[in-house]
Amino acid sequence: MNLLDVPALLWVVCFQMGLYALMWLLALALLKESRWAVAHWVVFMAALCVGFMLAALRGEPRHWWAYNGTNVTIVAGFALMRRGTERFMGLPPRDREQVLTLLPVMALFVWLGPGREDSPLRIVVAYLVQAWIMVRMLGRIRPALVAEFGRATMLGLVGPGAAVALVLVLLALRQGLTWPQPTEMQETNTANFAVTLTYLAGCALFSFGFLTLVTQRLVVRLREASMRDPLTGLFNRRAMNEALQRAWLRHRRTHESLAALVIDLDRFKRINDSAGHAAGDAVLVRVASVLQAQLRAEDVLGRAGGEEFWLVLPATPLDHALQLAERLRSGVEAAALGTTCSIGVALAAPNDADVGQIVARADAALYRAKDAGRNRVEAG
Ligand code: GH3
Ligand code: MG
Ligand code: MG
Repeated sequence: MNLLDVPALLWVVCFQMGLYALMWLLALALLKESRWAVAHWVVFMAALCVGFMLAALRGEPRHWWAYNGTNVTIVAGFALMRRGTERFMGLPPRDREQVLTLLPVMALFVWLGPGREDSPLRIVVAYLVQAWIMVRMLGRIRPALVAEFGRATMLGLVGPGAAVALVLVLLALRQGLTWPQPTEMQETNTANFAVTLTYLAGCALFSFGFLTLVTQRLVVRLREASMRDPLTGLFNRRAMNEALQRAWLRHRRTHESLAALVIDLDRFKRINDSAGHAAGDAVLVRVASVLQAQLRAEDVLGRAGGEEFWLVLPATPLDHALQLAERLRSGVEAAALGTTCSIGVALAAPNDADVGQIVARADAALYRAKDAGRNRVEAG
């Protein structure tokens, strides 16, 4: 094989790391998601860019900044990668451990000269400490990755990460075997060709992998936010319409009974008028938790707007729906929040054309409850 000149390849890697740093900088400016972690990754990639540039600049006479400087910047970059990634996964940083690892290592890099006689020790330590940082990071983020993104994603990241750590250990071993001959990364040989490609592949995988996760997290967060009422944390009207539609389709398929409740607070305007809007908001939050406390996991409660709540009860016959409605009504009354609630209950009927008709009947029942004096349950 006709080997590419390795210093030229190092420039390519340097250029590539610079592009990744730029990509992360763009992500930081545009996505505004997991910003502290992303900021760490900007500097991580920039540090590798500088590290590889210094390696590409190695030559005679041997300058300290080109030889030892490479190791200093790359190892510092790895430490930042670990800190940012653990932060990304919501783990508290292990700064003490990192400082205790880095201090002696950096002191050694500073203390050693750039000469060939000092190189083997510097090289072994540099590779081993990178592998160590990588292994510690993977061990810590593994459970958090499974919990948030699933097992496949975890394997897709931890697998290649572990492979990179293994390569780094093998490189340390190679240096151990050729002692006292240094195996420096700027020399053109097959092994160094492979080393450079490993860094290139590892960093590509890291950047694209975590950029996907940042985006995925953003999508999940936006989707969640678009379904929630910010005041009570309950589902909003859009989510309730979807829940009703899902329950309706299931009802049509299984012919299980489907019940819907419309719950409206009584004379709520008075609370706002007498105690203020903030007090009214606090009552809404309390009512939401009083209602929620009575429900099964499959029941879907939402705030349809103002002081009106909707409740979807899949696989629930009328008598159960009425019993639950009565428990909700008395629960709100017992909470003594200065308001009570009226509830309209309706069941899916065989000739309903769509789910809107159930809600309309529940609404009509609610108005009957209001007319009959409020703080009541009516079925439609
Ligand atoms: P009724 O028993 O007939 O339902 O009387 P009501 O006062 O509850 O009904 P009305 O529809 O006249 O008034 C509802 C009030 O709910 C009006 C509005 O000030 C209040 N409201 C709606 N949304 C919010 C909110 O997000 N926060 C607060 N604090 N008040 C709200
Ligand atoms: Mg009301
Ligand atoms: Mg209302």
